[in-house]
Amino acid sequence: MTCSTNDSAAHVIVVGGGIAGLTAADHLLRRRSGLRLTLIEADDRLGGKIATERGDGFVIERGPDSFLAAKPHALALCRDLGLEETLHGPTPRPRRAYVLRDARLHELPEGLSGLTPTRLGPIARSNLLSMRGKLRLTMDYALPMRAGDDDESLGGFIRRRLGDEAWERLVEPLMAGISAGDGDRLSLLATFPQLRRAELEHGGLIAGVRANRRAVGAANPPHPAFLTPADGLDRIVQALAARLRTAGAVLETGTGVREIRRRGERAEVVLRDDRRLAADAVIVATPAYAAGEALARLDQALAAELHAIPYASSAIITLGFPRERIAHPLDAHGYLVPRASGSPILACTWVSEKWAGRAPDGWALLRVFVGRFGRAEILSGTDEDLIAAATAEVTQRLGATGEPTLARVQRWPLGMPQYMLGHPERLRRIEAALEAHPWLALAGNAYRGVGLPDAIASGQTAAERIAAWLATPAWLATPELLAAG
Ligand SMILES: Cc1cc2nc3c(=O)[nH]c(=O)nc-3n(C[C@H](O)[C@H](O)[C@H](O)COP(=O)(O)OP(=O)(O)OC[C@H]3O[C@@H](n4cnc5c(N)ncnc54)[C@H](O)[C@@H]3O)c2cc1C
Repeated sequence: MTCSTNDSAAHVIVVGGGIAGLTAADHLLRRRSGLRLTLIEADDRLGGKIATERGDGFVIERGPDSFLAAKPHALALCRDLGLEETLHGPTPRPRRAYVLRDARLHELPEGLSGLTPTRLGPIARSNLLSMRGKLRLTMDYALPMRAGDDDESLGGFIRRRLGDEAWERLVEPLMAGISAGDGDRLSLLATFPQLRRAELEHGGLIAGVRANRRAVGAANPPHPAFLTPADGLDRIVQALAARLRTAGAVLETGTGVREIRRRGERAEVVLRDDRRLAADAVIVATPAYAAGEALARLDQALAAELHAIPYASSAIITLGFPRERIAHPLDAHGYLVPRASGSPILACTWVSEKWAGRAPDGWALLRVFVGRFGRAEILSGTDEDLIAAATAEVTQRLGATGEPTLARVQRWPLGMPQYMLGHPERLRRIEAALEAHPWLALAGNAYRGVGLPDAIASGQTAAERIAAWLATPAWLATPELLAAG
């Protein structure tokens, strides 16, 4: 996989030490030997949104808790890092979820693939939808498809195919659990293009998703849908960091990048502590707004596009209770709260039921997600306010009594990018702008997928772009190298 060339003196700087930046650095070093690579991370730890805490028998994920196995990049990376044996899926016991409606928890019907119902039996038996809502959903088989390649909102698409009830009570809560977004403003083509393809190829959404599932064998997948290292996602970060250090990369934490500019034939990366580092190529793997700030003087138009990608803020409140202080049987993996309910709470995951080994026996570990795009008022409260709101929620819904024995608050201000209508066109403009800067690449979950596998893929793609640039005669002919002989 490695190839040694006369570019051995090249210095590449990766900005951002989340999973995208770490993967970009790792991929590049494995792709080309002899590179000098420096990764600059503003925070005092690596991992970005991946943050795992361990102690007293608990494993607490403060950000993501698993990755989708069907998208290959995260699983392949774990294999490559020797972590495959440590991966496990959610417990098989009650592999189901509830949805809150009219102050009660209703079982989410089985047979949802991604966001789409693929079996009508469980829908017919569900009390989440009214009879009218169920009939409307089946009209998907008869409704004509919309022609043309215009984008539409994710919410608009599902409402058009399956009806308002199916959107508000089934699909929107699932979607918001992924992106904290407002589905009526998100771009269908940027978020779930496969749903539109299903409509175009098969005339209807349900028939299309079923046919695609059969085609990829998803009815009997070789893995659980979601996977994670048994004792926490940060094992991936640790393994990547160890491999990078062994390969000679310098990983600097606690220093942000203030500006990236061009100085002669090279890039200059200015750190917040005023140090200036020269580089032959730069990969920016920060959130888009941070990339926009760093690139503002290099390319105003590019920076404006990056700044225009909005983000949702959210928080996760993790609560631990002795099991006997929760009246609910906790016979599922948790519940989702529809936006239509007006609640700022998005979901509550019953971690101790969903994952083995995350809490000592006799304990219930719960994760309450708060904050929706456009409705982040709840986040202006103190940590104590957030713990009180989460405790009130689980008291009301699950019959928890007393105060939690364990409580953690993790805020993610501007933590989740939102692919609004117009995102695909924005990506095209960003790509066009980057043509003027072949030494520069962007990575991260702001662009082509918000989950971990997408962020990993983006890091690898950025590394390929820079590897290609370092192989071009244009780069090899830079004056410094000619002078160096
Ligand atoms: C609450 C929550 C739950 C999630 N759950 C899941 C899940 O279960 N499964 C899943 O697949 N995905 C999940 N995601 C999404 C997943 O976490 C992201 O896709 C992924 O972590 C993004 O990685 P990244 O490297 O692109 O960005 P980040 O992890 O944000 O890393 C960017 C890094 O850049 C650094 N940085 C910023 N500015 C600068 C600067 N100027 N100089 C230097 N460094 C800088 C930051 O400190 C950060 O470390 C979740 C996200 C959130 C917020």
